[in-house]
Amino acid sequence: MPNERGAGGRLTVDLDALATNWRTLETRAAPGETAAVVKADGYGLGIAPVVRSLRAAGCKTFFVALPEEGVTARQHAPDATIYILNGFFAEAAETYRQHRLRPVIGSLDELDDVARRLGEGPGAALHVDTGMNRLGLSMEEALALDPADPRLTRAGVGLLMSHPACADTPDHPLNARQTEAFSAAKAHLPALAASLANSAGTLAGGPFLHDLARPGIALYGGCARSGEPSLRAVVRLEVRVLAVRAVKKGESVGYGAAETLKADGRVAILSAGYADGLLRAAGSADGHAGAAAMIAGTLCPFVGRVSMDLIAIDVSALPEASVTRGTIAEILNETLTVDRYGEAAGTIGYEVLTALGSRYARSYIGDPGDTR
Ligand SMILES: *Cc1c(COP(=O)(O)O)cnc(C)c1O
Repeated sequence: MPNERGAGGRLTVDLDALATNWRTLETRAAPGETAAVVKADGYGLGIAPVVRSLRAAGCKTFFVALPEEGVTARQHAPDATIYILNGFFAEAAETYRQHRLRPVIGSLDELDDVARRLGEGPGAALHVDTGMNRLGLSMEEALALDPADPRLTRAGVGLLMSHPACADTPDHPLNARQTEAFSAAKAHLPALAASLANSAGTLAGGPFLHDLARPGIALYGGCARSGEPSLRAVVRLEVRVLAVRAVKKGESVGYGAAETLKADGRVAILSAGYADGLLRAAGSADGHAGAAAMIAGTLCPFVGRVSMDLIAIDVSALPEASVTRGTIAEILNETLTVDRYGEAAGTIGYEVLTALGSRYARSYIGDPGDTR
Protein backbone atom coordinates (compact mmCIF):
# COMPACT_ATOMS: atom_id res chain seq x y z
CA MET A 1 0.00 0.00 0.00
CA PRO A 2 1.66 3.20 -1.08
CA ASN A 3 0.09 5.56 1.28
CA GLU A 4 0.56 5.34 5.04
CA ARG A 5 2.64 8.53 4.94
CA GLY A 6 0.21 10.28 2.68
CA ALA A 7 2.29 9.89 -0.46
CA GLY A 8 0.66 9.25 -3.81
CA GLY A 9 2.84 6.29 -4.58
CA ARG A 10 5.34 3.83 -3.26
CA LEU A 11 8.73 3.23 -4.81
CA THR A 12 10.19 -0.10 -3.76
CA VAL A 13 13.88 -0.64 -4.38
CA ASP A 14 15.01 -4.25 -4.28
CA LEU A 15 18.57 -4.06 -2.95
CA ASP A 16 18.90 -7.85 -3.10
CA ALA A 17 18.33 -7.63 -6.86
CA LEU A 18 20.85 -4.76 -7.03
CA ALA A 19 23.48 -6.84 -5.22
CA THR A 20 22.73 -9.84 -7.44
CA ASN A 21 23.16 -7.66 -10.52
CA TRP A 22 26.51 -6.40 -9.21
CA ARG A 23 27.69 -10.00 -8.71
CA THR A 24 26.57 -10.90 -12.23
CA LEU A 25 28.58 -8.02 -13.65
CA GLU A 26 31.52 -8.91 -11.44
CA THR A 27 31.54 -12.38 -13.00
CA ARG A 28 31.40 -10.87 -16.48
CA ALA A 29 34.28 -8.48 -15.72
CA ALA A 30 36.54 -11.03 -14.01
CA PRO A 31 39.44 -11.27 -13.55
CA GLY A 32 39.27 -7.48 -13.46
CA GLU A 33 37.69 -5.67 -10.52
CA THR A 34 34.10 -4.37 -10.72
CA ALA A 35 33.28 -0.94 -9.34
CA ALA A 36 29.83 0.67 -9.17
CA VAL A 37 28.69 4.00 -10.58
CA VAL A 38 26.35 5.58 -8.03
CA LYS A 39 26.17 9.17 -9.34
CA ALA A 40 22.91 11.15 -9.35
CA ASP A 41 21.77 9.70 -6.03
CA GLY A 42 22.42 6.13 -7.12
CA TYR A 43 20.60 6.68 -10.44
CA GLY A 44 17.72 8.14 -8.47
CA LEU A 45 17.29 5.17 -6.13
CA GLY A 46 19.08 6.58 -3.06
CA ILE A 47 22.85 6.70 -2.85
CA ALA A 48 23.03 5.68 0.83
CA PRO A 49 21.16 2.35 0.68
CA VAL A 50 22.65 1.63 -2.76
CA VAL A 51 26.21 2.08 -1.48
CA ARG A 52 25.52 0.11 1.70
CA SER A 53 24.13 -2.77 -0.30
CA LEU A 54 26.91 -2.85 -2.90
CA ARG A 55 29.58 -2.55 -0.24
CA ALA A 56 28.05 -5.52 1.59
CA ALA A 57 28.09 -7.41 -1.73
CA GLY A 58 31.84 -6.81 -1.97
CA CYS A 59 32.16 -3.66 -4.09
CA LYS A 60 35.28 -1.69 -3.12
CA THR A 61 35.32 1.14 -5.65
CA PHE A 62 32.60 3.72 -6.33
CA PHE A 63 32.23 6.44 -8.93
CA VAL A 64 30.07 9.53 -8.40
CA ALA A 65 29.84 12.71 -10.47
CA LEU A 66 30.26 15.36 -7.79
CA PRO A 67 32.34 15.85 -4.64
CA GLU A 68 29.12 16.38 -2.70
CA GLU A 69 27.96 12.91 -3.77
CA GLY A 70 31.36 11.56 -2.79
CA VAL A 71 30.91 12.84 0.75
CA THR A 72 27.65 10.90 1.07
CA ALA A 73 29.16 7.77 -0.46
CA ARG A 74 32.08 8.03 1.97
CA GLN A 75 29.70 8.02 4.97
CA HIS A 76 28.43 4.60 3.91
CA ALA A 77 31.67 3.15 2.56
CA PRO A 78 34.44 4.31 4.89
CA ASP A 79 37.02 1.95 3.43
CA ALA A 80 36.17 2.26 -0.29
CA THR A 81 37.98 4.00 -3.13
CA ILE A 82 35.78 6.83 -4.39
CA TYR A 83 36.29 8.64 -7.70
CA ILE A 84 34.71 11.94 -8.71
CA LEU A 85 33.91 11.70 -12.43
CA ASN A 86 33.43 15.44 -12.90
CA GLY A 87 36.95 16.00 -11.70
CA PHE A 88 38.51 18.56 -9.41
CA PHE A 89 36.54 21.56 -8.17
CA ALA A 90 39.36 23.69 -6.73
CA GLU A 91 37.20 25.52 -4.20
CA ALA A 92 36.28 22.15 -2.66
CA ALA A 93 39.91 20.95 -2.31
CA GLU A 94 39.50 20.42 1.42
CA THR A 95 36.46 18.18 0.81
CA TYR A 96 38.50 15.91 -1.49
CA ARG A 97 41.26 15.72 1.08
CA GLN A 98 39.10 15.20 4.12
CA HIS A 99 36.89 12.51 2.56
CA ARG A 100 39.64 10.92 0.42
CA LEU A 101 37.85 11.61 -2.87
CA ARG A 102 39.87 10.99 -6.03
CA PRO A 103 39.20 13.41 -8.87
CA VAL A 104 39.10 12.02 -12.41
CA ILE A 105 41.40 14.47 -14.15
CA GLY A 106 40.04 15.52 -17.54
CA SER A 107 42.65 17.91 -18.96
CA LEU A 108 46.31 18.89 -18.63
CA ASP A 109 45.27 22.09 -16.95
CA GLU A 110 43.37 20.08 -14.37
CA LEU A 111 46.39 17.81 -13.87
CA ASP A 112 48.45 20.91 -13.01
CA ASP A 113 45.77 22.05 -10.63
CA VAL A 114 45.43 18.72 -8.82
CA ALA A 115 49.20 18.28 -8.55
CA ARG A 116 49.56 21.76 -7.09
CA ARG A 117 46.52 22.01 -4.84
CA LEU A 118 45.80 18.43 -3.87
CA GLY A 119 49.25 16.86 -4.24
CA GLU A 120 50.12 14.03 -1.83
CA GLY A 121 46.41 13.79 -1.21
CA PRO A 122 43.75 11.23 -1.98
CA GLY A 123 45.08 10.13 -5.40
CA ALA A 124 43.40 10.57 -8.76
CA ALA A 125 42.51 9.03 -12.12
CA LEU A 126 43.46 10.35 -15.53
CA HIS A 127 40.75 10.46 -18.18
CA VAL A 128 41.80 10.19 -21.81
CA ASP A 129 39.30 10.93 -24.55
CA THR A 130 39.18 8.13 -27.12
CA GLY A 131 36.34 9.45 -29.26
CA MET A 132 33.51 10.70 -27.04
CA ASN A 133 34.73 14.32 -27.15
CA ARG A 134 33.46 15.09 -23.71
CA LEU A 135 36.00 14.96 -20.89
CA GLY A 136 39.59 13.73 -21.02
CA LEU A 137 43.01 14.53 -22.44
CA SER A 138 43.13 14.20 -26.20
CA MET A 139 45.00 11.15 -27.48
CA GLU A 140 47.78 13.48 -28.71
CA GLU A 141 48.13 14.97 -25.23
CA ALA A 142 48.07 11.56 -23.57
CA LEU A 143 50.71 10.08 -25.86
CA ALA A 144 52.91 13.17 -25.46
CA LEU A 145 52.72 12.99 -21.67
CA ASP A 146 55.97 11.73 -20.18
CA PRO A 147 55.06 8.63 -18.10
CA ALA A 148 57.58 9.98 -15.56
CA ASP A 149 55.95 13.44 -15.48
CA PRO A 150 56.25 14.54 -11.83
CA ARG A 151 52.69 15.88 -11.90
CA LEU A 152 51.38 12.30 -12.29
CA THR A 153 53.26 11.22 -9.19
CA ARG A 154 52.42 14.32 -7.23
CA ALA A 155 48.70 14.04 -8.03
CA GLY A 156 48.84 10.34 -7.16
CA VAL A 157 47.42 9.23 -10.51
CA GLY A 158 46.86 5.49 -10.30
CA LEU A 159 44.12 4.85 -12.85
CA LEU A 160 43.83 5.51 -16.57
CA MET A 161 40.26 5.83 -17.71
CA SER A 162 38.22 6.42 -20.84
CA HIS A 163 34.53 6.22 -21.67
CA PRO A 164 32.90 4.43 -24.62
CA ALA A 165 30.28 6.34 -26.61
CA CYS A 166 28.62 3.41 -28.41
CA ALA A 167 29.24 0.22 -26.44
CA ASP A 168 25.46 -0.23 -26.32
CA THR A 169 25.43 -0.66 -30.11
CA PRO A 170 27.44 -3.82 -30.84
CA ASP A 171 28.37 -3.10 -34.46
CA HIS A 172 29.12 0.62 -34.19
CA PRO A 173 32.48 1.42 -35.84
CA LEU A 174 33.45 3.80 -33.02
CA ASN A 175 33.80 0.80 -30.66
CA ALA A 176 36.90 -0.54 -32.40
CA ARG A 177 38.40 2.94 -32.71
CA GLN A 178 37.92 3.61 -29.00
CA THR A 179 39.14 0.23 -27.75
CA GLU A 180 42.24 0.51 -29.95
CA ALA A 181 42.98 4.07 -28.87
CA PHE A 182 42.56 3.10 -25.24
CA SER A 183 44.97 0.20 -25.62
CA ALA A 184 47.53 2.59 -27.13
CA ALA A 185 47.14 5.02 -24.21
CA LYS A 186 47.45 2.13 -21.75
CA ALA A 187 50.63 0.89 -23.47
CA HIS A 188 52.06 4.40 -23.15
CA LEU A 189 51.24 4.64 -19.43
CA PRO A 190 51.71 1.01 -18.33
CA ALA A 191 52.15 1.81 -14.65
CA LEU A 192 48.50 2.82 -14.35
CA ALA A 193 45.56 0.47 -13.82
CA ALA A 194 43.11 0.79 -16.69
CA SER A 195 39.33 1.20 -16.88
CA LEU A 196 37.19 1.53 -20.00
CA ALA A 197 33.93 -0.40 -19.58
CA ASN A 198 30.59 1.08 -18.55
CA SER A 199 27.65 -1.37 -18.25
CA ALA A 200 27.48 -1.90 -21.99
CA GLY A 201 31.23 -2.41 -22.22
CA THR A 202 31.15 -4.85 -19.31
CA LEU A 203 28.50 -6.92 -21.08
CA ALA A 204 30.31 -6.62 -24.40
CA GLY A 205 33.53 -7.87 -22.78
CA GLY A 206 36.62 -8.48 -24.91
CA PRO A 207 38.65 -5.33 -25.57
CA PHE A 208 36.45 -3.24 -23.26
CA LEU A 209 37.61 -5.15 -20.19
CA HIS A 210 40.77 -4.10 -18.39
CA ASP A 211 41.55 -3.82 -14.67
CA LEU A 212 38.36 -2.12 -13.50
CA ALA A 213 34.80 -2.12 -14.88
CA ARG A 214 32.46 0.80 -14.13
CA PRO A 215 28.87 -0.36 -14.58
CA GLY A 216 25.94 1.89 -13.67
CA ILE A 217 22.61 1.34 -15.41
CA ALA A 218 22.80 -2.46 -15.56
CA LEU A 219 23.08 -2.59 -11.76
CA TYR A 220 19.73 -0.84 -11.51
CA GLY A 221 17.98 -3.20 -13.93
CA GLY A 222 18.17 -0.95 -16.98
CA CYS A 223 18.92 -2.22 -20.45
CA ALA A 224 22.57 -1.48 -21.20
CA ARG A 225 23.18 -3.02 -24.59
CA SER A 226 20.83 -3.87 -27.40
CA GLY A 227 20.39 -7.60 -27.75
CA GLU A 228 21.35 -8.26 -24.11
CA PRO A 229 18.52 -8.92 -21.68
CA SER A 230 18.37 -6.62 -18.67
CA LEU A 231 19.52 -8.00 -15.36
CA ARG A 232 17.05 -8.28 -12.49
CA ALA A 233 14.47 -5.51 -12.07
CA VAL A 234 15.30 -3.31 -9.08
CA VAL A 235 12.40 -0.83 -8.99
CA ARG A 236 8.69 -1.25 -8.50
CA LEU A 237 6.46 1.81 -8.57
CA GLU A 238 2.89 1.59 -7.32
CA VAL A 239 0.42 4.46 -7.25
CA ARG A 240 -3.10 4.69 -5.95
CA VAL A 241 -6.27 5.17 -7.93
CA LEU A 242 -8.05 8.34 -6.79
CA ALA A 243 -11.21 7.98 -8.84
CA VAL A 244 -12.80 5.95 -11.61
CA ARG A 245 -15.16 7.55 -14.09
CA ALA A 246 -17.26 6.50 -17.01
CA VAL A 247 -16.37 8.23 -20.26
CA LYS A 248 -18.24 8.34 -23.55
CA LYS A 249 -17.10 7.87 -27.10
CA GLY A 250 -16.10 11.26 -28.53
CA GLU A 251 -15.15 12.76 -25.18
CA SER A 252 -11.58 13.52 -24.19
CA VAL A 253 -9.59 13.31 -20.95
CA GLY A 254 -7.26 15.91 -19.48
CA TYR A 255 -5.48 19.04 -20.68
CA GLY A 256 -5.62 19.99 -24.31
CA ALA A 257 -8.30 17.35 -25.02
CA ALA A 258 -5.35 15.52 -26.58
CA GLU A 259 -6.97 12.13 -27.02
CA THR A 260 -10.54 11.56 -28.19
CA LEU A 261 -12.09 8.33 -26.96
CA LYS A 262 -13.02 5.86 -29.66
CA ALA A 263 -15.59 4.03 -27.51
CA ASP A 264 -17.46 4.29 -24.23
CA GLY A 265 -15.34 3.09 -21.35
CA ARG A 266 -13.88 3.80 -17.92
CA VAL A 267 -10.77 5.68 -16.89
CA ALA A 268 -8.99 5.56 -13.54
CA ILE A 269 -7.20 8.65 -12.29
CA LEU A 270 -3.85 7.94 -10.65
CA SER A 271 -2.15 9.98 -7.93
CA ALA A 272 1.14 10.68 -9.71
CA GLY A 273 2.27 12.90 -12.54
CA TYR A 274 5.19 14.63 -14.15
CA ALA A 275 6.18 16.21 -10.84
CA ASP A 276 6.88 12.63 -9.74
CA GLY A 277 9.19 12.11 -12.67
CA LEU A 278 6.55 10.42 -14.82
CA LEU A 279 7.58 12.46 -17.80
CA ARG A 280 4.87 14.46 -19.52
CA ALA A 281 6.03 13.07 -22.86
CA ALA A 282 4.69 9.64 -21.75
CA GLY A 283 1.11 10.83 -22.33
CA SER A 284 -1.03 9.80 -25.28
CA ALA A 285 -2.72 11.79 -28.02
CA ASP A 286 -4.81 10.96 -31.05
CA GLY A 287 -2.68 8.70 -33.22
CA HIS A 288 0.06 8.40 -30.60
CA ALA A 289 0.12 5.81 -27.79
CA GLY A 290 1.69 6.69 -24.47
CA ALA A 291 2.98 4.58 -21.58
CA ALA A 292 0.83 2.09 -19.69
CA ALA A 293 0.18 1.12 -16.11
CA MET A 294 -0.79 -2.34 -14.89
CA ILE A 295 -3.58 -3.44 -12.59
CA ALA A 296 -3.78 -7.10 -11.57
CA GLY A 297 -1.62 -8.05 -14.53
CA THR A 298 -3.71 -6.15 -17.10
CA LEU A 299 -2.11 -3.37 -19.12
CA CYS A 300 -3.99 -0.08 -18.84
CA PRO A 301 -2.81 2.51 -21.39
CA PHE A 302 -2.38 6.17 -20.41
CA VAL A 303 -5.21 8.34 -21.76
CA GLY A 304 -4.36 11.93 -22.71
CA ARG A 305 -1.66 14.12 -21.26
CA VAL A 306 0.22 13.45 -18.04
CA SER A 307 -0.61 16.25 -15.58
CA MET A 308 1.62 17.48 -12.77
CA ASP A 309 0.02 15.23 -10.14
CA LEU A 310 -2.41 13.03 -12.08
CA ILE A 311 -2.45 10.45 -14.85
CA ALA A 312 -5.54 8.93 -16.46
CA ILE A 313 -5.47 5.29 -17.54
CA ASP A 314 -7.98 3.22 -19.50
CA VAL A 315 -9.41 0.50 -17.23
CA SER A 316 -12.25 -0.57 -19.56
CA ALA A 317 -10.68 -4.02 -19.99
CA LEU A 318 -10.97 -4.78 -16.26
CA PRO A 319 -14.15 -5.86 -14.43
CA GLU A 320 -15.83 -2.80 -12.96
CA ALA A 321 -15.60 -4.01 -9.37
CA SER A 322 -11.86 -4.63 -9.61
CA VAL A 323 -10.81 -0.99 -9.98
CA THR A 324 -12.09 1.41 -7.37
CA ARG A 325 -10.82 4.35 -5.36
CA GLY A 326 -7.74 3.06 -3.47
CA THR A 327 -6.84 0.32 -5.97
CA ILE A 328 -3.11 0.12 -6.63
CA ALA A 329 -1.75 0.46 -10.16
CA GLU A 330 1.82 -0.42 -11.05
CA ILE A 331 3.77 1.90 -13.28
CA LEU A 332 7.16 0.18 -13.05
CA ASN A 333 7.70 -3.53 -12.41
CA GLU A 334 9.43 -6.54 -14.01
CA THR A 335 7.32 -6.12 -17.16
CA LEU A 336 6.93 -2.36 -17.16
CA THR A 337 10.64 -1.63 -17.16
CA VAL A 338 12.23 1.80 -16.97
CA ASP A 339 13.31 1.29 -20.59
CA ARG A 340 9.76 0.57 -21.73
CA TYR A 341 8.52 3.67 -19.91
CA GLY A 342 11.37 5.66 -21.40
CA GLU A 343 10.57 4.47 -24.89
CA ALA A 344 6.98 5.62 -24.52
CA ALA A 345 8.29 9.03 -23.49
CA GLY A 346 10.90 9.27 -26.25
CA THR A 347 13.79 8.85 -23.83
CA ILE A 348 15.89 6.21 -22.06
CA GLY A 349 15.61 4.27 -18.83
CA TYR A 350 18.43 6.34 -17.31
CA GLU A 351 16.31 9.48 -17.49
CA VAL A 352 13.25 7.74 -16.09
CA LEU A 353 15.22 6.46 -13.09
CA THR A 354 16.98 9.72 -12.30
CA ALA A 355 13.73 11.69 -12.65
CA LEU A 356 11.81 9.67 -10.03
CA GLY A 357 12.18 12.37 -7.41
CA SER A 358 11.33 12.58 -3.75
CA ARG A 359 7.53 12.50 -3.52
CA TYR A 360 7.13 8.75 -3.26
CA ALA A 361 7.14 6.77 -0.05
CA ARG A 362 10.27 4.70 -0.53
CA SER A 363 10.93 1.27 0.81
CA TYR A 364 14.05 -0.82 0.47
CA ILE A 365 14.15 -4.60 0.39
CA GLY A 366 17.33 -6.08 1.83
CA ASP A 367 19.04 -2.96 3.21
CA PRO A 368 22.05 -4.31 5.12
CA GLY A 369 22.17 -1.10 7.19
CA ASP A 370 25.45 0.38 8.27
CA THR A 371 27.71 -2.58 8.84
CA ARG A 372 30.92 -0.67 9.42
C1 LIG B 1 27.86 7.24 -15.99
C2 LIG B 1 29.17 6.69 -16.31
C3 LIG B 1 29.41 5.31 -16.25
C4 LIG B 1 28.31 4.30 -16.07
O1 LIG B 1 27.60 4.19 -17.29
P1 LIG B 1 26.39 3.17 -17.49
O2 LIG B 1 26.03 3.31 -18.91
O3 LIG B 1 25.30 3.64 -16.59
O4 LIG B 1 26.88 1.83 -17.12
C5 LIG B 1 30.71 4.86 -16.41
N1 LIG B 1 31.73 5.73 -16.64
C6 LIG B 1 31.52 7.07 -16.75
C7 LIG B 1 32.66 7.95 -17.06
C8 LIG B 1 30.24 7.59 -16.61
O5 LIG B 1 30.03 8.89 -16.74
